[in-house]
Amino acid sequence: MPSFHCRQCGSCCRQPGYVYITENDAKLLAAGLRLDLYDFTDRFCEVLEKRHLVLKQYPDEKCIFLEGTRCAVYETRPAQCRDFPLRWDSKRRSEYCKGKVVP
Ligand code: SF4
Ligand code: SF4
Repeated sequence: MPSFHCRQCGSCCRQPGYVYITENDAKLLAAGLRLDLYDFTDRFCEVLEKRHLVLKQYPDEKCIFLEGTRCAVYETRPAQCRDFPLRWDSKRRSEYCKGKVVP
C-alpha cells in the first residue's frame, strides 16, 4: 500500500473548501479538546445548507485549527484530513502540495 511523504507545510489547510465533520469526528475532536459536544460544535463548527457540519474558517478560508503550518488537533483531526491525499485527492493538489506519494 502506498504511503505519503507530507512536508507539513499546511498549504492544504489554507485551500478553499470545507472540512466536513462526521458525528465520530465531532466526538473525537471534542474529547481531545476536553469540551462537551455542544461547546465544541458551538465554538468550532458551522452548519452548511442546514444539514452539513463543517469546521469554521478564517475570512481567508484558512481552517480554524491551523496554527502556523501545524494542525492544532492533529491527533484527533477529522477523517477528511486523515484521508488526504491517499483516499481522496483533487486535480488542483499539484498547485499547492509538494508532498509525494511513495509507492
Ligand atoms: S483540522 Fe487540521 S488537518 Fe484538517 S484542515 Fe484543519 S488544520 Fe488542517
Ligand atoms: S499541502 Fe501537501 S505537503 Fe503540505 S501539509 Fe498538505 S498534504 Fe502535506
